[in-house]
Amino acid sequence: MCQQKTIYTTTPLTLLHSITMKQLIFILLALQTCLLSSAQKSISVMVLGIAQDAGYPQIGCSKICCAQVKEGKQAGAFPVSWAVMDSAAHQWYLIEASPNIKDQLNYFQKATGNFFNYYPDGIFLTHAHMGHYTGLMQLGREAANTKDIPVYCLPKMAQFLRANGPWSQLVQLNNIKIQTLTVDSSISIQSNLNVTAFTVPHRDEYSETAAFIIGNSNKKYLFVPDTDKWSLWKTPLVSYLKQVNIAFLDATFLSSTELPNRNINEIPHPLVPETIGLLQQEPSLKTKIVLIHFNHTNPLIWNEEQRKKYSSKYVGIASVGAVY
Ligand SMILES: [Zn+2]
Ligand SMILES: [Zn+2]
Ligand SMILES: [Zn+2]
Repeated sequence: MCQQKTIYTTTPLTLLHSITMKQLIFILLALQTCLLSSAQKSISVMVLGIAQDAGYPQIGCSKICCAQVKEGKQAGAFPVSWAVMDSAAHQWYLIEASPNIKDQLNYFQKATGNFFNYYPDGIFLTHAHMGHYTGLMQLGREAANTKDIPVYCLPKMAQFLRANGPWSQLVQLNNIKIQTLTVDSSISIQSNLNVTAFTVPHRDEYSETAAFIIGNSNKKYLFVPDTDKWSLWKTPLVSYLKQVNIAFLDATFLSSTELPNRNINEIPHPLVPETIGLLQQEPSLKTKIVLIHFNHTNPLIWNEEQRKKYSSKYVGIASVGAVY
């Protein structure tokens, strides 16, 4: 039901003074969702983090990219994470448990004016690299000591969590409840939300790497925060793009010269121009793309001019708090 609990506990005038513009936009979106007929009920997604696993600034970096944060010229950024919101059902799902999960949950609570429960109704994990799952530790006995939060992931990831501390303790103490997904098989999380996980090529040291299609008949989102080159995909990216309304895609690097001291072949993410190049023949798909998972060296996270250049000419650039 579409009750807006907290925001209606005060007078309208006080309310207008106490909510921020972002909260107001969210409330309007939620109301719009509530007014839709049940067949049209929609979901929306809020971006909670945009950086590669290590966040921005990155530890030990004194180059121009990260120096700007220390000098107060650029805002820092947490690792990639999203909130999938079903306003009509008052439920929300977190995608990725980043090392900054605490800050991201606090941010989400504030941005949505306490509209949802503080803890998500479920967490989706793509893979076992540090930026994508280590925030789970905040749910354990030493911190939140949560009860049975469903954690959705593919089988190797599930096994990794069950078999290795400290994650295994979260399972044993029922802080989290692992829900193992099957590759390429759609499941209903609740009446208005379906999820399909598929695997993508990536460095799978501890787990496979998942991408998710999440949505319903009204709206679908594709989440691909981490992958190796598109050319290695068995099913072309374009065919997935045709199935969805919005696609969040790995944009770790803008160019292959960003890491002069490392062999970029060891970390073969698709370069942003390669992603854009893929869509030369499919210009209508470009408007669906939102780039995310920026390395600290990627100018799309630290250079406003580059951000403007790419967002105006080509595709969307993810920013924290943006709702899709
Ligand atoms: Zn990553
Ligand atoms: Zn840096
Ligand atoms: Zn990764």
